Amino acid sequence: VTHAAQDKELLVATDTAFVPFEFKQDGKYTGFDIELWDAIAKEAGLKYSLRPMDFNGIIPGLQTRNIDAALAGITIRDDRKKVIDFSDPYYESGLAILVSNDNTGIKSAKDLEGKNVAVKIGTATVDYLKANVPNAKLKLFPNIDNAFLELATGRVDAVVHDTPNLQYFAKTGGQGKVKVVGSLKSGDFYGIGFPKDSELVPVVNKALKAIQDNGTYDALYTKWFGEKA
Ligand code: GLN
Repeated sequence: VTHAAQDKELLVATDTAFVPFEFKQDGKYTGFDIELWDAIAKEAGLKYSLRPMDFNGIIPGLQTRNIDAALAGITIRDDRKKVIDFSDPYYESGLAILVSNDNTGIKSAKDLEGKNVAVKIGTATVDYLKANVPNAKLKLFPNIDNAFLELATGRVDAVVHDTPNLQYFAKTGGQGKVKVVGSLKSGDFYGIGFPKDSELVPVVNKALKAIQDNGTYDALYTKWFGEKA
């Protein structure tokens, strides 16, 4: 069976920087989302090219149908489901706090009250903090790397972002100077995003299921996150 979607080259958006899901290494994009999508595309016979962009532009790009699909650790939420479609969930996530190693005062959401907190524009973190820690002073960045720099130079007290991203950064990019404290939220799920009513959704869900059943998904998960607990 061939689908119209299998005939053209799809434009697939990813975030520019969201370790270890998508990031640039030696001039090339790699990461869990990148390799997961490549496995899905091979399974489903889809041709594509990648278009990294700031997270903030991705949902609008899907809404205007300028992009055909997007992987950016996008949290599945009811409000987003009104404007875009999602694949079946492919990764369980949450939100956490990153601080300098020598910070002993910040351990939970309430400790962020009145503090300078760096966050990424357009992410679920911004909505979470506005609702739950209204007195935190948010400093907004389009790219999380700038938020990490802001913490390194002491201009903010904390970065709040997705748990797997902060954990990976603390291990690999933080040079031993930062630590993840206090999980704020768990039980979020990432999905692949599509324009509303895209014919790709069932095609991608079928391929996702196939690579989950044949061990490809587990091998990628272990490669990027270690053994599942
Ligand atoms: N999971 C976050 C959200 O959907 C964004 C993750 C990211 O920065 N790419 O809002």
